[in-house]
Amino acid sequence: MTNDFDIRDESIDNTDKVIEKKLRPVFFDDFMGQEKTVENLKIFVKAAKMREEALDHVLLHGPPGLGKTTLANIIASEMNVNIKITSGPVLDKPGDLAGILTSLDDGDVMFIDEIHRLSPVVEEYLYSAMEDYKIDILIDKGPGARSVQLKLNPFSLIGATTRSGLLTSPLRSRFGINSHLEYYDSNILRKIIIRSADILEIYIDDDASVEIAGRSRGTPRIANALLRRVRDFAQVKGNGKIDMDIVKYSLNALNIDKNGLDDMDNRILLTIIEKFKGGPVGISTIATSIGEDSGTIEEVYEPFLIKEGYIKRTPRGREVTELGYTHLGKKITGNSSLLF
Ligand code: ADP
Repeated sequence: MTNDFDIRDESIDNTDKVIEKKLRPVFFDDFMGQEKTVENLKIFVKAAKMREEALDHVLLHGPPGLGKTTLANIIASEMNVNIKITSGPVLDKPGDLAGILTSLDDGDVMFIDEIHRLSPVVEEYLYSAMEDYKIDILIDKGPGARSVQLKLNPFSLIGATTRSGLLTSPLRSRFGINSHLEYYDSNILRKIIIRSADILEIYIDDDASVEIAGRSRGTPRIANALLRRVRDFAQVKGNGKIDMDIVKYSLNALNIDKNGLDDMDNRILLTIIEKFKGGPVGISTIATSIGEDSGTIEEVYEPFLIKEGYIKRTPRGREVTELGYTHLGKKITGNSSLLF
């Protein structure tokens, strides 16, 4: 069963992009949840401002949609500096990197999304930029080639990654601030939904906001995306207001089950149970049988399934838990360790 609506799809249409921008918190005070990380960042920002220095380089890691880009923008607003945004796969030549770095003013933020996907050459160049605010660029090719050193303005690099394990240790060690973003609990997601509904001028019942929050996989981006889709259903199938009935109707139409698991989550569980007797089974084997990239399963789907207790990681691979079986209404059979 495929679903043509993907709540994680970042290539959402223009209108949705515009709305997403409107919903993005601009200052720390609008950013809900992640208390510990935010408290620390507030202190580091304040201290850097008092010393009139650039903030130390920041690495933000965690699953997609939890607020890494948002926090990078907030840091720049709070520091009162500009932000230049790019991403690991886009920066494929040292010249591209040099172009951005030399355009930064004193204290500016350079944000690199998916920093684990930087090419090794570009990464190498980044080291001296991060450490000494200098960059050596090679001019000309062949025998006439020479290297010229450019001095940069002090800047803060903010790197975001969904896969911090793939970062090389020289790069990782150059970040003075290292924060992991956690999934949100549904109470905070509910507040985010209410804030977004307010900005979009949508009427939403209390219990409807609780229901959407509970089905958002602990992720603000998904909470906002569901809110927008439910609003569509409310406009077309209802009276424009979001209540429990319309939420249930819409989420059912979008194939999001009562615990917030979508088609792919359920397919992963079902595949492990039906094809591999509940596991243990390796991630690449699961990926091949589902026809999905193993990195995507590992960084997008699995963390949530593990956190919610549907699967667990064992030294021999992934195993569906008892909760995973009950969730799908399946009986534990085969050689699952749950039988012993
Ligand atoms: P990431 O960079 O981690 O993939 P984003 O920063 O792009 O995630 O966040 C996705 C969307 O979720 C943003 O547009 C923003 O509106 C919303 N969002 C994320 N974190 C929060 C938060 N703590 N409070 C309110 N909205 C949030």
